Amino acid sequence: MNIHEYQAKALLKSFGAPVAEGVAIFSADEAEAAAKSLPGPLYVVKSQIHAGGRGKGKFKELGPDAKGGVRLAFSIEEAKAHAKEMLGHTLVTAQTGPAGKQVNRLYIEDGADIDRELYLSLLVDRSVGQVAFVVSTEGGMDIEAVAHDTPEKIVNVAINPEAGVTADDLAKLTAALKLDGEAKADAEKLFPILYKAFVEKDMSLLEINPLIVMKNGRMRVLDAKVSFDGNALFRHDDIKALRDETEEDAKEIEASKWDLAYVALDGNIGCMVNGAGLAMATMDIIKLYGKEPANFCDVGGGAGKEKVAAAFKIITADPKVEGILVNIFGGIMKCDVIAEGVVAAVQEVGLKVPLVVRLEGTNVELGKKILNESGLAITAADDLDDAAKKIVAAING
Ligand code: GDP
Ligand code: MG
Repeated sequence: MNIHEYQAKALLKSFGAPVAEGVAIFSADEAEAAAKSLPGPLYVVKSQIHAGGRGKGKFKELGPDAKGGVRLAFSIEEAKAHAKEMLGHTLVTAQTGPAGKQVNRLYIEDGADIDRELYLSLLVDRSVGQVAFVVSTEGGMDIEAVAHDTPEKIVNVAINPEAGVTADDLAKLTAALKLDGEAKADAEKLFPILYKAFVEKDMSLLEINPLIVMKNGRMRVLDAKVSFDGNALFRHDDIKALRDETEEDAKEIEASKWDLAYVALDGNIGCMVNGAGLAMATMDIIKLYGKEPANFCDVGGGAGKEKVAAAFKIITADPKVEGILVNIFGGIMKCDVIAEGVVAAVQEVGLKVPLVVRLEGTNVELGKKILNESGLAITAADDLDDAAKKIVAAING
């Protein structure tokens, strides 16, 4: 789960990280009061969307000469004018895709005088099984380009979970970022704070780009992007409350309510499966026969009829889906439950595209009987190969 920059900053501030004062607003009327509450004279008006690259982004409706999604303002009047122009418009950045994202919230922040822009992130480094800091002196711009062109400028420091952030780790990090004086002292306080926040809140990514050294020599978190491990959200009600569903795919929200693993893809065959391995095999064989999956929805083990029906509805709600392949190997999940769920969903929402069902395993005969007696136009398949051939043939007409 992702959150907005202003939410991430408030969270990091609660752990003691240095962030600027700022106010989130939802309408242009609030801009004046927000700016007035800040010290000034420099303000930053920042689009709040779940995507980076906002500074270099462009508003669809405003033409190529308009300023981007992060704007400096040198007076309260200017901050107001920016807010009015930005809110409600669609920001397209390198990370939003061509459709862009509508800006419904702004963050008005006290502006900083920047001396240096650094890069810092914390992530779970699976190769060592530890949380690691990734830092670079080349912050503020496209870190992917830095990683590609000058990988030696990116330094990785993995943290031993028992020891936490040690003096040795701090020495490596501050040296890599070429910090000295007050900025170095600030960093030595900040980095353990960031590590603590990451671990306590079960983050999967914490990216600060840029982390800045200000002209006065002090350090500040200027941008913050945080993702949380969805599997740990059950123990963080405070984080769950920060969810902004308008930023998420409606089908993925619905799937998460039912605890379904749903992944949207680019092709046109919808796939309902149980288990990640079967999902992979199903997608591979669809590709083998020349088509691409539109998604896969993993109902997992032990789902009831309602959950199966919800999964089926999520798959059919995608207009890209021209055919559906249900491929279930019944173990804990029983084939008759799948059949009942599919029939219930089809009776409720109808079936506008070909449906091929391959069932195998526990209660397979009962499952097939339920499908056969349903009177619905369902094509039965004998095995995985047969199923893939049949759905591809059905779509090709
Ligand atoms: P992003 O483009 O989505 O990554 O948004 P950022 O929050 O990183 O802001 C983009 C850029 O705007 C930064 O790299 C800075 O150069 C600039 N910027 C943001 N806040 C300030 C500020 O307080 N003062 C100044 N001078 N520039 C800022
Ligand atoms: Mg940034």
